Amino acid sequence: MVQQGGAGGTIRAWVPDLLLQLPEQARPRSSAEGLVAVELAWQGGVLTALRPISAEHSPPDGMVLPRLVEPHAHLDKAFSWSEYPNLSGTYDGAMAANLREHQTRTAELVHARGERALRLACRHGVRAIRSHIDSLGPGAVCSWEALLDLRQHWRDRIDLQLVALLPVEHWSSSDGQRLAAWIASRGGLLGGVIPSPCPGRDMRAALRRLLELAEELGCGVDLHIDEADAYPAAGVGQLLRSMHGLSLSVPVTCSHASSLALLRAEPLRRLADRMAEHQLQVVALPLTNGWLLGRQRDSTPYRQPLAPIRQLQRAGVRVAVGGDNIQDCWFPGGNLDPLALMAASLFKAHLAPWEKLGLEPFSSEAARLMGLIWDGVLRPGAPADLMLLEASSWSEALSEPPRRRVLINGEWLDPFPGHAELQH
Ligand SMILES: [Zn+2]
Repeated sequence: MVQQGGAGGTIRAWVPDLLLQLPEQARPRSSAEGLVAVELAWQGGVLTALRPISAEHSPPDGMVLPRLVEPHAHLDKAFSWSEYPNLSGTYDGAMAANLREHQTRTAELVHARGERALRLACRHGVRAIRSHIDSLGPGAVCSWEALLDLRQHWRDRIDLQLVALLPVEHWSSSDGQRLAAWIASRGGLLGGVIPSPCPGRDMRAALRRLLELAEELGCGVDLHIDEADAYPAAGVGQLLRSMHGLSLSVPVTCSHASSLALLRAEPLRRLADRMAEHQLQVVALPLTNGWLLGRQRDSTPYRQPLAPIRQLQRAGVRVAVGGDNIQDCWFPGGNLDPLALMAASLFKAHLAPWEKLGLEPFSSEAARLMGLIWDGVLRPGAPADLMLLEASSWSEALSEPPRRRVLINGEWLDPFPGHAELQH
């Protein structure tokens, strides 16, 4: 039964026990998929009580998840596929279309794309997004202006993090250093693309300069690295070498890291250990990787590299899963729905949400990777920030993205339907 009055309310729901913190003595039995029936109460934007209930005597209203996060997106080019498609589905085709699209940007255009994306994300139960922004060329300034404006406008509903995306060598130039200072003053992150292969001392020097700059300015780093189906771990190898003797306090994230999957087991184990030692974090991006990588003319690929999530987790590397592109030249799909991403990750990455290591890349590890205050675990005192799904199991929730209602800071986003309405 859903009740709401004043600034508070209660709800009865199935909740994954992995995302629930209850006193030990109150821990109820869970379903085969690890869901427990709970009554959640909130007041003044904060969860005040979580109480196990009997599902037979008090049927839950649906399934509750905390609002989730999107650790890797590109809002600046969202929804541009129809005007700048990449029908060949190749990496080079995507890059060429991206360069054409970038020439045409205006602040109004990027603002409209960003607004549409944030609305969609909000409706899908997303509370934080990290978006990379193409930050070199004629469309850079207007893209930043538009997304900074949206970050401010949406700050009560979605925490928007912005990362400068450009060739990594640019940070070594005086223009690059000025840009870095400007981004730091706006609370952004420094990023960049490391194309594969990326041999040589110059690339290591460029990476080192970026890391030093980030440390000086106190900015996190998030790189597009090893997004390739060849040259296994060439980029991460260079990154680790560039970190030699460097003491960093800012977090460094490797987005993609796909070609690591091409390493044999033992070299991968050693690499993952070194990544854990250097506290590198990884965002795996199954949708765009699945579309662009391993592509062969006239044959269906049987091997498509994706960041080796489980091997990295086993070594102690923090891993999150992101959606990446939203209907742009890099991927024609994508809709900022974390449940659709979880559904795709069932078959693409064997991530089962009833397993700790299957769920955390979408929830608490993703939140920690983004440096968010709340890890997304439901406990008394946590934000009343959640989504109620019209589902009573993971299987139902992931078979097709379910209808949902979103609670932000203790208030329903839309008028909440009655219990009877939820049953249809
Ligand atoms: Zn990306």
